[in-house]
Amino acid sequence: MRIAEIYRSIQGEGFLTGVPSVFVRASGCNLRCWFCDTPYASWRPEGRDMATDEIVSQVEEWETEHVVLTGGEPMLFAELIPLSARLRAIGRHVTIETAGTLHLPVECDLVSISPKFASSAPSQAGDARWHRRHERERHRPEVIRRLISEHEYQLKFVIDTPDDLRAVCQYLAEVRSIDRQRVLLMPQGTEQGPLATRAEWMKPYCESEGFVFCPRKQIEWYGPVRGT
Ligand code: SF4
Repeated sequence: MRIAEIYRSIQGEGFLTGVPSVFVRASGCNLRCWFCDTPYASWRPEGRDMATDEIVSQVEEWETEHVVLTGGEPMLFAELIPLSARLRAIGRHVTIETAGTLHLPVECDLVSISPKFASSAPSQAGDARWHRRHERERHRPEVIRRLISEHEYQLKFVIDTPDDLRAVCQYLAEVRSIDRQRVLLMPQGTEQGPLATRAEWMKPYCESEGFVFCPRKQIEWYGPVRGT
C-alpha cells in the first residue's frame, strides 16, 4: 500500500488524546475535502508502495503500544486487512481512522470515523470533477452502521460553521443507534485563532446536546507541522 509517512507522536484528537502512538499514513483518498489537513495524502498523494512486512518492521522499531492507521483513506487499500491483523498479533493496539465511505474486514481496537458533510466538498468552480465525485461518495450510512456494529468506535465530525451542527443532528437521525457519548465535534482549522473562535460557540453546544467537544491538541502542542 502506498504510504506517505510513518512517525511516532502523541495522539492529539479523540478519546485517546495524549497517548503516544505510531502513525502509519496511507496515501490516497476517494474524497477531496477543501479543508483537508493532509493534502499530501489526498490532493497530491506522496510516498511509495510498501509491503506489509516492511511497514510492520518500521512500526516495531518503536516500542509503542498504540498504532494509528490513518490517511488519506486507509480503507482504499486491501493490504489494510493483513496489516491490521499482523499489528494486533504482535500486541499492538490498533486504531483505524477513516471517513466511513468504504468497508474492509479489518481488525482493530478502535475505529475513528469522520463522516463528511456537503459543506466539505471542493467548490464546483474550483474543481468540478472532484466536486461531483466527492458528493457522490462522501455519504455511506450503510458503511457507518456496519463499522460501528463490528468495532469499538468514535464518530468525529469536523465543524466549520453552525450549519454543520444542524447537519450532525440530521446525520444522527438518519443513521440511528449512535451513542451520543461517542460523538465528538472538532473545530475545523489548522491555526489556534480560528480554532479558538469556533470552540467558543461549539463548547456550549456540546454541553447542552450531550456531545464531546474535541480540541485539536496537536495544533496547540506543535502547530500545523507535518509528522506530529
Ligand atoms: S476524507 Fe480526510 S484525507 Fe480525505 S480529503 Fe477529506 S480530510 Fe482529507
